[in-house]
Amino acid sequence: MRIDLHAHSTASDGTDTPAELVRAAAAAGLDVVGITDHDTTAGWDDAAGAARDVGIELVPGVEISCRLEGISVHLLALLIDPDDPGLRAEFAATRDDRVRRARRMVGLIAADLPLTWDDVLAQIPAGATVGRPHLADALVARGHVADRDEAFATLLHPGSRYHVGHRAPESAAVVRAVRAAGGVPVMAHPLAARRGRVVSDAAIARLADAGLAALEADHPDHRPAEREHLRALAARLGLLVTGASDYHGTGRPNRLGENLTPGATWQALAAQARRP
Ligand code: AMP
Ligand code: ZN
Ligand code: FE
Ligand code: FE
Repeated sequence: MRIDLHAHSTASDGTDTPAELVRAAAAAGLDVVGITDHDTTAGWDDAAGAARDVGIELVPGVEISCRLEGISVHLLALLIDPDDPGLRAEFAATRDDRVRRARRMVGLIAADLPLTWDDVLAQIPAGATVGRPHLADALVARGHVADRDEAFATLLHPGSRYHVGHRAPESAAVVRAVRAAGGVPVMAHPLAARRGRVVSDAAIARLADAGLAALEADHPDHRPAEREHLRALAARLGLLVTGASDYHGTGRPNRLGENLTPGATWQALAAQARRP
């Protein structure tokens, strides 16, 4: 079984539509693919239709922006009830604040470089959760940077004077809310240091106490030593270990299936979900 539980579509900052993502997953030889757009379930229905057509299993999920030790972190919420009122309200509030934050970042950048909010709007697919990758695309279109990677390494980096944070709920509360919505919470790329500061093992242990199911150790942004550290930590805390690509289409070099989750791990995760 080839299982990749973390990928993005045009419902957030990926470049494949949900249906294209599923077809690309089938073409990459995957048996199971997760659609985990940022703070939205908007891509689920189209992805599910495509998954039925091509005969692969779709794992509906959301990558939820949270805070832990004051650091921005991501939780994958797999198999949640998409109609859960608490989570829906959280997602809507975060999406709204992501727009405010993107506009503020454009305002700061525009003081130094030609860039308008319309430039950014031109890069955002209809209904998508707004993120820094859309700002990156506008900077590329303006010729200020060569690609998303250069934008993230410079103007959009958390250490940049143009960077603004967005609203994000506390991780432990989100872990509990995901469980309450019948879903399975997995901490995405816990040690992705190229994105900024990373959290302590003690903070991850507190999330385990709150109900976290797994750590995503095999992620493109983790080096071998970080993966080993997370495997040992997961064993100590009684957590499962997942692997995934965090595919974003042409927006990042990540290839579908470049990291995988073992079949037994996926079965154990799915068994924890409260299916409708
Ligand atoms: P945001 O959620 O708006 O803060 O933006 C974070 C998103 O940008 C995440 O989904 C990452 O996958 C994406 N991202 C982070 N670093 C890079 C990079 N170097 N190139 C392209 N996308 C990136
Ligand atoms: Zn993303
Ligand atoms: Fe992420
Ligand atoms: Fe992601």
